[in-house]
Amino acid sequence: MPVCYNLLRRVNLNRPTSHSEDTAIVDRQMHLGEDEEYAVLLEAWQHTLSVISAQVNKASFETWIKPIVPISFDGRVVTLGATTVFARKWIENKHLKAIKSIMDAFTSSDLNIQIVLAQPEEPAILQEKAPTPARSRKKAEDEPISLALNDRYTFESFVVGPSNRLAHASCCAVADAPGKAYNPVFLYGGPGLGKTHLLHAIGQRILQNKPNAHVVYVDGETFTHHYISSLREHKNSEFRRKYRNVDVWLVDDIQFIAGKDRTEEEFFHTYNALYETRKQIVLSSDRPPKDLQLDTRLLSRFECGLVADIAEPDLETRMAILQQKAFDENMTLPDDVVLYIARLIRSNIRALEGALVKLHAYASLMKQPVTSILAQDVLGGYFGESKPYVLDPAAVQEAVCKEFNISPDDLNGSRRTKDLVLARQVAMYLTRELTSASLITIGRAFGGRDHSTVLHACAKVKGLLATDAVLVATLQELSKRLRNGGC
Ligand code: ADP
Ligand code: MG
Repeated sequence: MPVCYNLLRRVNLNRPTSHSEDTAIVDRQMHLGEDEEYAVLLEAWQHTLSVISAQVNKASFETWIKPIVPISFDGRVVTLGATTVFARKWIENKHLKAIKSIMDAFTSSDLNIQIVLAQPEEPAILQEKAPTPARSRKKAEDEPISLALNDRYTFESFVVGPSNRLAHASCCAVADAPGKAYNPVFLYGGPGLGKTHLLHAIGQRILQNKPNAHVVYVDGETFTHHYISSLREHKNSEFRRKYRNVDVWLVDDIQFIAGKDRTEEEFFHTYNALYETRKQIVLSSDRPPKDLQLDTRLLSRFECGLVADIAEPDLETRMAILQQKAFDENMTLPDDVVLYIARLIRSNIRALEGALVKLHAYASLMKQPVTSILAQDVLGGYFGESKPYVLDPAAVQEAVCKEFNISPDDLNGSRRTKDLVLARQVAMYLTRELTSASLITIGRAFGGRDHSTVLHACAKVKGLLATDAVLVATLQELSKRLRNGGC
């Protein structure tokens, strides 16, 4: 192994704790960058960080992945450093597989990845004789219980649309008047839709207004880990003291707590203690309270507050988010590329961001302008599962079948019950309105019908729209859905 690996291992053993330390480490790494294998490792590691940050939740990323130190690479064995024994085990159990597959793909090889302890924990006996400085070995009481807030997750950088308006408004209200507006606020929604972003934004807004407020942000996984550690180390009273001395409690991903009986019980007591002293509580979960397998006492408490869901964003919101992210990253993104990506990825904003990062990286590495052709080349395969959405006769038929609860065979077949005829005519009308297909093409798509049948259907639906308010609403909703990518 070349000498500089060891040198780097020495300079780089401590977990980066601040931005300036981060920068210093990067500088040292650049200094050592003459070594090709190490340079490959750093590049592979940067790539791994960017891919994995889009796959795991933010708290896991910050707590477990980001502190990992790339130590050495000898062409086949990659050595990564974890900062504690617990972290090492956690990474091995939960993240090693993903790390390996990303690094394998990046280096096109079958790597052997080992995680070592980068900052050895000293045996207790040594600590007694020669205590390490307080800065590097804090007493448990000094350790903050809050995870760090990401300063990019603010209300200003959050794009509001119909899918998240209520959640956003309720978070703004509690951030401006903690403990007074709504308590608790319970946010729920699928992955990558902005729950963590909003919790961080609340924490940051409150700290801006009241810098001394004790804001604690944890996720269910970390709360569980803190609780279990406190039991193991016989420090339960200290755990309670810390958690009850909180002004604003932001708990992300509480679904992790459900079903873990003792943790849930402790969570319940913490919750009550804070609630009764009118401390603001905001919770997030990937599902609504009733679907969490939680103690009914807890459920009824959650339901007393404000429960707001975050749904999948519509096309306009997805486009606005992409534009905002591109602006933040100083990236030029033509409108047709924005539209392409927004239609390609519909249900997860984290994936939307991942696509942007990938496209940006590819364009700058290959020194090519960002065009929709490049976007299709780079992203089409990557997000292959969700095929690019095309608003064509088939898409209209699918949406109409869903709305009218009929099968495609019925829609295109020859049966002429009243309901089927109406659905067929509506589908033809919408196809004519929303796509560029000719009358002949439409007729063919609907079971080989004649163009005059299509004309007749369109005229019929137009006539009905003049008098039938329910049909008007149905068609408006269908058109909106179809324009937004069929979802
Ligand atoms: P969740 O916690 O619901 O899984 P996150 O809050 O981690 O999702 O959001 C995933 C990514 O998408 C984050 O980078 C976040 O900043 C971004 N994001 C989500 N919703 C929005 C939004 N409405 N406006 C801007 N960025 C958003
Ligand atoms: Mg989250």
